[in-house]
Amino acid sequence: MNMKLKSICTTIVLLGITCVVQAQNPIIKDVFTADPAPLVYKDKVYLYVGHDTASVGEDSYQMPDWLVYSSSDMKNWKNHGPLLSPKDFSWAAKAANAAQCIERNNKFYWYISVIHKSDQNSKGGVGIGVAVSDSPTGPFKDALGKALVTNDMTTDMKHSWDDLDPAVFIDENGQAYLFWGNGSCKWAKLKENMIELDGPIHTFKPQNFTEAPWIYKRKDLYYLVYAAGMPERVEYCTSKSPEGPWEYRGIIQDTSFNSFTTHPGIVNFKGKDFYFYHNGALPTGGGYRRSVCIDYLNYNPDGSIQKIIQTKESVKLVKQ
Ligand code: CA
Repeated sequence: MNMKLKSICTTIVLLGITCVVQAQNPIIKDVFTADPAPLVYKDKVYLYVGHDTASVGEDSYQMPDWLVYSSSDMKNWKNHGPLLSPKDFSWAAKAANAAQCIERNNKFYWYISVIHKSDQNSKGGVGIGVAVSDSPTGPFKDALGKALVTNDMTTDMKHSWDDLDPAVFIDENGQAYLFWGNGSCKWAKLKENMIELDGPIHTFKPQNFTEAPWIYKRKDLYYLVYAAGMPERVEYCTSKSPEGPWEYRGIIQDTSFNSFTTHPGIVNFKGKDFYFYHNGALPTGGGYRRSVCIDYLNYNPDGSIQKIIQTKESVKLVKQ
């Protein structure tokens, strides 16, 4: 809390009114954060993000590691620090691109995308790996010792960064799925051990799909939400099955302030639906110096998603 705010709060408390400091968007202000992937586990939200460190004016991604935060109320975020880096994967060259962590059988599987060493000089060559831990805040270690998905396993897109942005989902029947992609959306089943694909990789193109899929189920509908177009909006499809066919349902988030990318992450926490994304709104922020924000997500009675209202205020404190 800065001194001025502390002084105001002290004054208010002296007047007998409880002062609650409500962090505004972007929610993390001391470092640049991107590609939010929230995880609800027990009574907390864990937030897994990339870490932008490009210099002001530098027009390339500099992402040395992944950071983790947690909160019990969506307002006060505890910093658990950098808990994973491309250096933790012997086969990875660099670039802590988008990632998502999920819990299964009291283990935490963190799917990440990085530039693979074998393709370091070919401008891309993105692969997906998985790290595992007994705790949502680590320590994490490479679960495989090699990539789970390499660029050459999908050939529908000719660019070498088409295997970005893993998203993971476990259906009610226990079947786990990995979704990912840039330019086209790919998916495959995961075995129960969560570290092997179970069957072929499927490829399809949701309308306007660019990258950053996020998949979940609500009531009897599966939702596939993704970054679309460029500069990126967020659009979505729904289906009666995680294996499709998917029906296009429209735009839910317009482009975000001062960033040509954005990235959806959606959770229900204590009865409310929350929408995580990134923009470039911090001072000196931009497309390579991004920041994670949270706003509400609301559904219509037919299950369609209302347009996200991007606010400065962010969401209200969730009561314990
Ligand atoms: Ca590929």
